[in-house]
Amino acid sequence: MPAAPVSLAGCPLCEADGGTVVARGADWRVVLPAEPDYPAFTRVIWNAHVAEMTDLDEAQRAELLRVVMAVESAQRAALAPDKVNLASFGNVVPHLHWHVIPRWRDDRHFPDPVWGRPAQGRDAAIAARRASVAARLDAYVEALAQRLGPAGSARGS
Ligand SMILES: [Zn+2]
Repeated sequence: MPAAPVSLAGCPLCEADGGTVVARGADWRVVLPAEPDYPAFTRVIWNAHVAEMTDLDEAQRAELLRVVMAVESAQRAALAPDKVNLASFGNVVPHLHWHVIPRWRDDRHFPDPVWGRPAQGRDAAIAARRASVAARLDAYVEALAQRLGPAGSARGS
């Protein structure tokens, strides 16, 4: 088990935070990557190079899931989404990470995953939803801070 993050040149999540850091722990960070159609799209990133949940020991796994659940809870409290999508792939970067995505029936891809086929013919509703979520981002970040503590000092972009 690695004791500290291994920084590998060329790894985008070692060289940068991967978004605006809104919470940070010793082993993880929570970032807003600013996905265009999803202002509150959130990633929980494990800092070390770990590929699978079962590579973490039980305490680490519990800690990561605690953070993911705190993010979901903050989204429900501050944003009242129709659904929260949780996803973990990790096929591209060697960092275990979870996508925590608040979803609405009028968002860009609903009911498909955000990586799926975009909806057609409801651009106005999609734009209105995006603006509504963006307007509540500060409240969401505050709800995250209540659950996970302040972001602490940033480590770059
Ligand atoms: Zn890395």
